[in-house]
Amino acid sequence: MALMFIDGVPVAARSGAERPIIDPATEEPIETVPVAGAEDVDAAVQAAQRAFADWSHRDADDRAHILRAGVERVRAELPSLAALLCHEQGKPVAEASGELSHFLHGVEFYIDLASKIRGSYTALPSSLGPAYGMVIKRPIGVCAAIVPYNFPITLLGTKIGPALAAGNTVVAKPAETTPLTTLRIAELFAAAGLPPGVFNVVTGSGPVAGEALVSHPAVRRVAFTGGTETGRRVMALAGPRFKRVSLELGGSDPVIVCPDADLDAAVKGVVIGRFFNAGQACLAAKRVYVFAEIYDQFVEQLVARVRRYELGPGWTKAARPNVRMGPLNAPAVRDTLSAQLADATARGARVLCGGGVPPEPERGFYFAPTVVADAPHDSRLVQEEVFGPILPVFRVASLDEAIRLANDSAYGLGSSIWTSNVKWIHRAAHELDAGMTWVNQLHYGYDELPFGGLKDSGIGREHGPEAIEYYLETKSVVVGGLGE
Ligand code: NAD
Repeated sequence: MALMFIDGVPVAARSGAERPIIDPATEEPIETVPVAGAEDVDAAVQAAQRAFADWSHRDADDRAHILRAGVERVRAELPSLAALLCHEQGKPVAEASGELSHFLHGVEFYIDLASKIRGSYTALPSSLGPAYGMVIKRPIGVCAAIVPYNFPITLLGTKIGPALAAGNTVVAKPAETTPLTTLRIAELFAAAGLPPGVFNVVTGSGPVAGEALVSHPAVRRVAFTGGTETGRRVMALAGPRFKRVSLELGGSDPVIVCPDADLDAAVKGVVIGRFFNAGQACLAAKRVYVFAEIYDQFVEQLVARVRRYELGPGWTKAARPNVRMGPLNAPAVRDTLSAQLADATARGARVLCGGGVPPEPERGFYFAPTVVADAPHDSRLVQEEVFGPILPVFRVASLDEAIRLANDSAYGLGSSIWTSNVKWIHRAAHELDAGMTWVNQLHYGYDELPFGGLKDSGIGREHGPEAIEYYLETKSVVVGGLGE
């Protein structure tokens, strides 16, 4: 059994409960992990609180040095971690390696910032006696990091990077199905010298361990990535104690392809943007609006490229020019996709390729990469988040129509436009209701730029120097008594 990591040591759940971790490509158990109860979460939070006293008072350089040693341990073990991630999550090894590299880059970004956090000084009016003011920044305390199953490691990095670099301590809760790589990473950081209790990992369910963590009085900051409905619950639980919350939630990113677009680049960007990670991505090209002039050509190239995906276990490679797509992480994801697709086809949508659960491979939670035309805009496939490899394509007559349809969504995470027309780029940048707009680029979350959603896609930002502010308290200090 893989054990939880609390106060620097591996531990089982106090109740003794455990659950299997299933390889989504074989449907076979590969490991078991403890199922934490509230008492285990409490032990982890208490350990983090004890560790905070020392960690928060260390020199920033000292913290950076230890974190860098942890990063180096992870880097040295990258191939075996990528294999582990492939087996628990389902993604191909190459994508798992990329995810781990992204994790390292993201954590290093914050390690480099650790010694550059600064407050400010200001002169004050002397009416109450000579005085000056300082604005100081200090770490908040114990931070909860709640992570989903689709990118378990990069999304861990976006939380522990700024949290630990700024002097906070962390209790992380990975998704039920993808805790193994996270547990190993916690061990590696501890082996590199991270003091006990600074970075703890509890494994367990959302409703029990997740809620116990969010509600724990000693947790001051909750960084959550996951579904929109779960985000509402997390916000409700954190609200009464006014915890600092960031919620990175679901998305339904629109893509607008204009008549002057570099068609080849746009098709490639849309295909990778939608089908990477078997479509289980928050930032993904989820609805494509193509100008009528180029619609047929675009769709023809799109379908040809999507047909190159070959389903199979992530530890095998597809024969060139085919591209490997792994299984979905869990059967429930597949069931939701099937229902969303059925709703659209029952209402007139046409499947251009793919179309559901394939006969082959027989074992594993596979879903054929699917392109759909003529989906009604009020169908589930368009209005809900589609968290898998289905892409609806729409024909539009103008930029006005494209922007109107793009914004016809409860979500507002990412968006993109493919054009060289500077006026259209300007309009897209200002009029698309999304936390991010890419121009002639696939949807990708750079570590350097703040990223987060509008509307039902959440609040707060991860990535960029801005994100570290979410892990710091601002405090004003007035220094008087300066007279004779
Ligand atoms: P989920 O909401 O079911 O679970 C996410 C995490 O929250 C898991 O660790 C889960 O155990 C925990 N959880 C569940 N119920 C909880 C509760 N009541 N209290 C506290 N924690 C709880 O999400 P998922 O299905 O694992 O992931 C897919 C979702 O995540 C998609 O909607 C996707 O768009 C979103 N996501 C968003 C971003 C982003 O940056 N905006 C990135 C990746 C994924």
